[in-house]
Amino acid sequence: MKLKNIRKISKKTLDWITARKSLLKLYEKKGIRVCELGFKDCTFDYRLSFAHRFKRSDPRCRHTFRQTLKSCIPCHQKLEQDSDLTEKMFKLLRST
Ligand SMILES: [Zn+2]
Repeated sequence: MKLKNIRKISKKTLDWITARKSLLKLYEKKGIRVCELGFKDCTFDYRLSFAHRFKRSDPRCRHTFRQTLKSCIPCHQKLEQDSDLTEKMFKLLRST
């Protein structure tokens, strides 16, 4: 049997999987358990993920508290579509 369909996981993805685990712990420690953005259509505590200040393909991307926000999927999508809004929310929520 050929295994040609198995995708190689890139180093970047592996880094993110590792970093994500420590971020989850860090956010838990800080008591951040719901979406930090709360835009219209926010699902609050349902299917949360991390929104990055810079996209993961961007070399400036860091998997740190200051460069991520806890976000539900609809709010995350709003940030993805609007880099000005992303900057605004990071300034507001992370004071950077
Ligand atoms: Zn939300």
